[in-house]
Amino acid sequence: MKTLKTFRLWTLCPHCGRRNELHDGEAQPVNGDVSFCIKCGQFGIYDLGSARESRLRLPSLQEAEEVMADAYFREIRQTWLDLSI
Ligand SMILES: [Zn+2]
Repeated sequence: MKTLKTFRLWTLCPHCGRRNELHDGEAQPVNGDVSFCIKCGQFGIYDLGSARESRLRLPSLQEAEEVMADAYFREIRQTWLDLSI
């Protein structure tokens, strides 16, 4: 089981534009880490070093496939779907 901490870090979802202020993870996110938006249920990729104000970008097709192949991320998405009904 992963031990998660909550970090204050604002981001803008690259899918819906929601401003998210917290990041739950084992450590501060680094470039390439995955973010999950609690509004739209989509995944974004951290891109902290770029000029992107959002700090997140859309995943590439390969990244999206890797995320959905990961049981941990599938569980997050399923839990969000279950709570959204
Ligand atoms: Zn979103």
